[in-house]
Amino acid sequence: MSGPELVPTIGLEIHVQLLTRTKMFCGCELEFGAEPNTHTCPICLGHPGTLPVVNEQAIEYATRIAVALGCEVAPRSIFHRKNYFYPDLPKGYQISQFDIPYGSDGRLGDVRIHRVHLEEDAAKLSHVGESGRIHGSGASLVDFNRGGTPLVEIVTEPDITDPAAAREWLGLLRTTLRQLGVSDVNMEEGSLRCDANVSVRPAGTEELGTKTELKNMNSFRYLERGVDAEIARQRAVIEAGGAVEQETLHFDPASGTLTPLRSKEYSHDYRYFPEPDLVTLAPSQADVEAARDSLPELPEQRRERYAEELGLHPDAARLLAFDADLAEFFESATAAAADGVEAKAIANWITGDLVALARESELEPAATSADPASVAQLVGLVASKQVNRGGAREVLAVLVREGGDPVEIVERLDLGASDSGELDAIVEKAIAEQPDAAAKVKAGEGKAIGAIVGVVMRETRGKADGGEVTRLIRSKLGL
Ligand SMILES: [Zn+2]
Repeated sequence: MSGPELVPTIGLEIHVQLLTRTKMFCGCELEFGAEPNTHTCPICLGHPGTLPVVNEQAIEYATRIAVALGCEVAPRSIFHRKNYFYPDLPKGYQISQFDIPYGSDGRLGDVRIHRVHLEEDAAKLSHVGESGRIHGSGASLVDFNRGGTPLVEIVTEPDITDPAAAREWLGLLRTTLRQLGVSDVNMEEGSLRCDANVSVRPAGTEELGTKTELKNMNSFRYLERGVDAEIARQRAVIEAGGAVEQETLHFDPASGTLTPLRSKEYSHDYRYFPEPDLVTLAPSQADVEAARDSLPELPEQRRERYAEELGLHPDAARLLAFDADLAEFFESATAAAADGVEAKAIANWITGDLVALARESELEPAATSADPASVAQLVGLVASKQVNRGGAREVLAVLVREGGDPVEIVERLDLGASDSGELDAIVEKAIAEQPDAAAKVKAGEGKAIGAIVGVVMRETRGKADGGEVTRLIRSKLGL
């Protein structure tokens, strides 16, 4: 198929449940997994005559999020009613923000933040039995415990250009939010939910193509796969001479298929109007400054510190800093490491072999049986040449599978590097066995040393340190 290349544009909309003690506009406590409908009251059930009161902690958290994302905090913003009917919305409207969001014009990493606003969550619907029949056994159940949970919605500009970058950026956002202590950011439990707006346009053009919205991708992997599938679908539609329709889609990770949910509503469909029962939000400049001053070290700053102060490779610094669990693992490992074990070496083992081995078991590195102190100890054994790289990788595989003491594992698997006296003798014997190679090395043919190293490795069953062996051979040959 010829024609111009179609390049994707991706924007994300993220809903973050705030980790407040109570709901957004009433005093009901928030508790994930509680018995359904045990945390409700006339306010969050939308009884007539009740009045909402704003949760101060939610405002504080929204301020932290806004300043951490580099947003301008609006000196005055109000709540609006977003009107629509759905069984999870007892009032018939959701209290949200509309024309003036709480924060706007920010940036996180390479992605600009369009807006950050406050709203309340809907109740949780679950569908049981057989659906689609009037007299079937199917039913929809509503749990109002979640209804009224404080949410911050973060909307990015369409600055992301590929699915992997979308996933990585969401990881950065999640780590940032976690660091702020404002949310659990647990995608499986729904405290972090991500929608993606996807469009494609011919390379070299400015105007964005028609976008579709992918709803509620509840894991990083699904986000990447869903967006990838949608880009492929849009390209195929356009290349076949069709046009992409604006619609909302559901990605089914099991089958990899996309199904339309409903045609996209426009904002005027919601008849937004100012919420008359709530006062204007007017955070003082002092509050905003205080929030800015009290920010913890955020991933972006951590990345800089890792690269500049610890001298980590830029990729390793980013990988560690943007993943809260991995960063914590790394920090614990460096704290536990013996003197003289370099942070850089620990970082390399974590971002290289540990990440790879964990992936083989489909686990996050921090969720494997390897604990940070053991990994640090293992890196120390390599540094002191008590085990070579290949042996250490075997030890790490055991640590990932079942944990344990690296020294004990080295002994049990007989991976310890030979002691120097023994290695000395093996090297001498290897040189004697390979006189031609020895002569060539002496004559300046560096590559010929491989034959001698090979013999040593065979004799030590791969346990010797390659660098050490090369050094010994050369010294024995008087080089
Ligand atoms: Zn309530």
